Amino acid sequence: MSEGIERLIRPEILTLVGYTASKSPDTLKGKVEVPVADIIKLDANENPYGYSPLVHQALAACPPFSVYPDSGQTELRESLARYTGVDAGHIVASGGSNQLLDLLIRLFVGPGDEVINIIPTFDLYRFSTQIQGGSLVEVLRDEKFAINVKAIKAAISKKTKIIFLSNPNNPTGNITPQKDILEIVATGVPVLVDEAYYEFSGETVAPLVKQYENLMVLRTFSKWAGLAGLRVGYGIFPPRVADYLLTIQIPYSVNVAALVAVRESLSDVDCLMDRVKAILTERERLFSELKKLKWLRPLPSRANFIFCFVLKGKADELQQKLQNKGILVRYFDKPLLENAIRISVGKPEHTNALIRALQEIGEEMNV
Ligand code: PMP
Repeated sequence: MSEGIERLIRPEILTLVGYTASKSPDTLKGKVEVPVADIIKLDANENPYGYSPLVHQALAACPPFSVYPDSGQTELRESLARYTGVDAGHIVASGGSNQLLDLLIRLFVGPGDEVINIIPTFDLYRFSTQIQGGSLVEVLRDEKFAINVKAIKAAISKKTKIIFLSNPNNPTGNITPQKDILEIVATGVPVLVDEAYYEFSGETVAPLVKQYENLMVLRTFSKWAGLAGLRVGYGIFPPRVADYLLTIQIPYSVNVAALVAVRESLSDVDCLMDRVKAILTERERLFSELKKLKWLRPLPSRANFIFCFVLKGKADELQQKLQNKGILVRYFDKPLLENAIRISVGKPEHTNALIRALQEIGEEMNV
């Protein structure tokens, strides 16, 4: 039976290359030189300071987990409207911005439709497009990972349904200037600007969503608010797009714990933004420490991670050696991202441990 089951599965799924998610430290028990509790996780751009203490208190008070949440997200959308300065009618939330991205692709893209992906970038755009049976039209960034507006415009066809732009770009960390974004928006094709790292970059096109029928912005609570494990993200859309998204969304997509956590995070923005500032300061220190190691070439970043080419030795081996020492980073080995790692910015003690480990590895490699 199982052998023949492929005949029934959609062909685009049979050839799909999966998305590589980050490792959970629990799965490394006994496989690294340190106890699981001491693993330093710098591989998924999570917040090293965790979430607001108000979230902790509110969840400890046991909100009504036995009752379904408000599927219409009324209170959530209103509080996000206050935070973003955009009316609630523009806003839709979901269980992580990944889910919203998937929902948006389901809204616009059918088999044979085209999606413009500006690569190298966050791999989920490819993944969700291919699951939906959409065709990827890939447009390359230049050697500094800046986008090529002319090439993007030239790639638009009658079948183009959506253009994805990660800003700042994951994994390279660079920003696209607003004037370039607006030039793409002027084509009339739906453009999704993924601002998962907005609170770190300070750059946003969210206030402009009101003015365009085809501009959309994606945000998350995973990074700045430290809620990656609770899964909550949102988007700012033209109201009609927001309505369609709410119509096709699986009911109760944001769970009760996440609703409480968002409410509390938004009442503690000053504390969370102080932590963001600490991460930005640490990012600059990490950058200058990495630069001192002559066998690495870090790129300037506007997010909470640093992309780094490995000039001597192999990135996958470096990642493995760091993992053995209990430090997790992400490595890349695909076209345009050959032999590179991405390091999330941690607390100062995480930077110190990482740099010490890199120095030891450098000595072992004689570089
Ligand atoms: N967009 C980008 C560019 C990201 O880097 C990430 C996280 N890796 C996400 C979206 C997804 O975030 P969430 O946890 O909200 O699903």
